[in-house]
Amino acid sequence: MSRIVYVNGDYVPEEEARVSVFDRGFLFADAVYEVTTVLGGKLVDFPGHMARLARSLDELDMAHPADDATLLGIHHEMVARNGLTEGLIYLQVTRGAADRDFLYPEAAEPTLVLFTQEKPLVDTPAARAGISVITLPDRRWARRDIKTVQLLYPSMAKMAAKRAGAGDAWMVEDGKVTEGTSNNAWIVTRDGRLVTRDLSPAILAGITRAAVMRYAREAQMTVEERAFTPEEAREAAEAFVTSASTFVLPVVAIDGATLGDGRPGPVAQRLRALYIEESRKAAL
Ligand code: PMP
Repeated sequence: MSRIVYVNGDYVPEEEARVSVFDRGFLFADAVYEVTTVLGGKLVDFPGHMARLARSLDELDMAHPADDATLLGIHHEMVARNGLTEGLIYLQVTRGAADRDFLYPEAAEPTLVLFTQEKPLVDTPAARAGISVITLPDRRWARRDIKTVQLLYPSMAKMAAKRAGAGDAWMVEDGKVTEGTSNNAWIVTRDGRLVTRDLSPAILAGITRAAVMRYAREAQMTVEERAFTPEEAREAAEAFVTSASTFVLPVVAIDGATLGDGRPGPVAQRLRALYIEESRKAAL
């Protein structure tokens, strides 16, 4: 059965969905995106994703394709038309189609595309066993706070991790971990403090990161926002990553060094359960 995809105002079968070869998303990666999780047929953290989308667009002087209420309606329509109960909604906005030129076109209509991906997110083998990560140099551009579709280096890094038998890579710059290839990196110190890198252009401001931080603090846990080294991570009691599609995913080994007993730690497991429970309650 083919999916129904949204393209510039139309809901069409995926085989019929088209964008121009002159689209700047295709030619210049001149595009931003968001991925919103669907749990029980409802949207997790929708306002957070839309606020970040608006910021990404503004940072690139890109037109907003629609207001938040309209985008919410489109997301709900995509859930309904695709019968989605658990999975993801991918949204991409490009600057639009124009004759190829580095300068931004004076008048181009933004392109808006959404599609769904159905997949189990709550009960997964990775969540049960945890993942291992390797560290690699961070060779992305310097504006990682903007959620652009320039994902080639993260793709290369995920391939390198796969070849090394690991589940993902943590990227390192100036001796400190920036973030995972598609997630924010966290450690739990031996005295139980949660540590995740402070926000700056060096990393993406994860919507899941913000929610987990809030829930952790509400549960009286201490959260420190600061950079940490790969060495500190290898000696941590626990580690995990956060993202919309993985929630809180335990990390059980870093560059071959096993953390604790090599199984998901209690803090990561508790935060995962808390995050899923609270997200279900607040979902739209
Ligand atoms: N950092 C990077 C580089 C990412 O690609 C993602 C996922 N899009 C995240 C962090 C996590 O962000 P979120 O929690 O909003 O999914």
